[in-house]
Amino acid sequence: MAEKTGEAGVILTRVDDVLQWANSSSIWPLSFGLACCAIEMMGTYASSFDVDRFGVIPRASPRQADLIIVSGTVTFKMADRIKRLYEQMPEPKYVISMGSCSNCGGPYWEHGYHVVKGVDRIIPVDVYVPGCPPRPEALIGGILKLQEKITGKSSPELPIETVK
Ligand code: SF4
Repeated sequence: MAEKTGEAGVILTRVDDVLQWANSSSIWPLSFGLACCAIEMMGTYASSFDVDRFGVIPRASPRQADLIIVSGTVTFKMADRIKRLYEQMPEPKYVISMGSCSNCGGPYWEHGYHVVKGVDRIIPVDVYVPGCPPRPEALIGGILKLQEKITGKSSPELPIETVK
């Protein structure tokens, strides 16, 4: 409601909108990191950035997570493990690729024989966050972009009508 009037009202909305809003407001990422970008991801979870306010709460098990943030260098040795963790997550599930290494191989793109040239060759990516490493603000921007993608709206707020 736009303003408090003291009068009781009824809120009308669609079930799809409520589910999308709930889904976008309770993104639980898997506690998982690969290299230097993971330090920035851990910093993002710290109190100074407070991503809990977006409903982002890291989980220790892929079975309780709906987001995997691929933060770091994806080596061929780790590729199978990343795919397995992704497959263990329940639907609907999302992927943020954080940093140049995960996006395209980063500084190892030309000579890194051991590095996958982008995690999207293994699992589907919803949002790419550029940088080497991206700062926490950039990752938060990626999370907000994912919320927009889930709801299909530029704001995570529910469209509501009021009936008096
Ligand atoms: S993108 Fe840069 S900071 Fe991130 S894992 Fe690769 S080398 Fe490290």
